[in-house]
Amino acid sequence: MGKWWRYWRNKGHKAKSRVEHYQCLDCSQCYDKRKYPFEEGEDAWFHGWHLNLFPSHALATFSSQEKQFRYPIPVVATNCHYGGQRHWFLCPLPSCKRRSKKLYLYTEGLFLCRKCLKLAYSTQNRSDTDRIIGKKWALIRKYGGDSEWDIKRPKGMHQKTFDRIRDKIWRLEELAMQKIGEAFGKFS
Ligand SMILES: [Zn+2]
Repeated sequence: MGKWWRYWRNKGHKAKSRVEHYQCLDCSQCYDKRKYPFEEGEDAWFHGWHLNLFPSHALATFSSQEKQFRYPIPVVATNCHYGGQRHWFLCPLPSCKRRSKKLYLYTEGLFLCRKCLKLAYSTQNRSDTDRIIGKKWALIRKYGGDSEWDIKRPKGMHQKTFDRIRDKIWRLEELAMQKIGEAFGKFS
């Protein structure tokens, strides 16, 4: 094992609350805080995931094994006490439909509510998946990044060493996606 590995382990790295590891789709940002009226099907990007926004739903894309599925995330509005409206997502999983201000990225382009996310991870693969995701984020944070894309090479580190670390991050990402995919098969 290289030094980077010992580094985060010796730091006593503990995975933070699981939900923090996931990218989140915030209904306030998509709908409440808009300054301009809607165009039907307006393009929006969140963390690199593409959505089309409609007043009644957001259309998202789930990619699984090179296939793509478009799926709607229903949007409902409630009236505020002092006027105006608040918007909520309904969890896109038909068995759930829970009203939720935020959804979390579960796997390739699929956003779920907090409850479903937890449920998805309470499968037998959970500890494995968590461990893998934990490792991935520990590496990303160690190299000053917020995502797989923007880690930085520390001064004095060889490019080769750095490339190996970046490969490692991508392998962890692939592995996590694979585990999550397996879990989703059980879960749906
Ligand atoms: Zn749900």
